[in-house]
Amino acid sequence: MDSQLFEAPGGADFKCVCGRTHALNADGVIFCGGAVGDGIAKAAQSVAPSGSAVFLISDSATREGTNRAVDKALMRAGYSPAAHIFAKPPAGSVAECAKIAVPENVRFVVGAGGPVIADVAKYTAARRKIPCILVPTPPFSTGLFAPAAALTRNGADKTFFTPPPAALVCDPSLSGNSAKEFAAAQFGSLVSKLVALFDWKAASVLNGEYFCPTVFERALALIDAAIQKSRVAAAKTDADFAGDCVKFSALCALLDSNRLNAGAEVQCARALKLLCKRELRPLRPSGENEFLFSRVIMRLYKTYLSGGADFFVPPPDNNSRLEKISEYLGLSEAAALERLRPVVRLADTRLNAYKLNEYRDELYALVCDFDMRLQTAWRPFKRLFPDDGYAAVHSLDKADVSLLVALAPDLYPEFTLLAYMKDLGLLDGYLY
Ligand SMILES: [Zn+2]
Repeated sequence: MDSQLFEAPGGADFKCVCGRTHALNADGVIFCGGAVGDGIAKAAQSVAPSGSAVFLISDSATREGTNRAVDKALMRAGYSPAAHIFAKPPAGSVAECAKIAVPENVRFVVGAGGPVIADVAKYTAARRKIPCILVPTPPFSTGLFAPAAALTRNGADKTFFTPPPAALVCDPSLSGNSAKEFAAAQFGSLVSKLVALFDWKAASVLNGEYFCPTVFERALALIDAAIQKSRVAAAKTDADFAGDCVKFSALCALLDSNRLNAGAEVQCARALKLLCKRELRPLRPSGENEFLFSRVIMRLYKTYLSGGADFFVPPPDNNSRLEKISEYLGLSEAAALERLRPVVRLADTRLNAYKLNEYRDELYALVCDFDMRLQTAWRPFKRLFPDDGYAAVHSLDKADVSLLVALAPDLYPEFTLLAYMKDLGLLDGYLY
């Protein structure tokens, strides 16, 4: 993988127009394309000398499926791994992590497996304040390199902030062709980050959040390149978008924030996860769901920003929302209450409305632009499935979508334009 991402502009450490200096530990980072053994040896040596104790976190399907390649590589490089191997792929809860016993002398953690293993490994290493190396298997997520671990606590998702992984070892031969099976999920996850980017921009003008135009532009360039790639005829068989997701996740490390993964599309996809669990329905890969929601949300934003919405809407009915979160999404009232966004004071509502009017034209131009990109990506997205997207497109019905879009902002604390709309009472109408 090209290391230019970290080098330009101005090397791994550069003074940015946003006023910050972005730094990334570029000593290790990504080893890719070569034999997994070499990558693991290099990554391990960058964090602790040979002979050090290391702790491997994996699941038995990955471990046996790869013929213990990671164990063997660590041993060949002179490390003696202790391990926690999940018999079944973990669900990614804090409770599961609490059962992982890392011996005292361990110098670093290696997480080998899918996105959940990556989060479990990051979280476990962060609790012990030791570095973490990831050997990911597909689907590759836009959160791999992010300084955050998405786990569940008391049944609901929670993002824990962690240091980014010290290194990522991506070896195509380790995962066979399976990245291609997830081409649609990986493409969908990446392109749906247009919503996250838009929400970041909205959060900067409406909520005073830090914003970096350099990272914003680079993230957008990665998405545009993926859309371009998806439109060439051979993409269905050639492209897997795995590397693009990894690069996007590296921008989160550069930014030292998970903001690029914290848009309304992720809030909705996580709410869907709760709904499916509650109703014992099968769940499709989250990247696919994020993409489906991104189209709905971008349309909703576009409609909202196109009007001069100065009419009076009553504030959100939090009691009724609380009941619906318990009833449909299966959270206990206590867990739901802990997450509910407080009702905004009338004076703040007026200030927010004023700010929105100030920036409305700018945000509207951006939302139109992003909506067009999503439209361009829609057909290539469907073509990445063997059934041309039939099953994915029909996996969500309208009633589910309205319910989830309306409730999602109360489940996750990130500021998004959707959360802003909830605060104004604009989403309650989708609940009845
Ligand atoms: Zn910057």
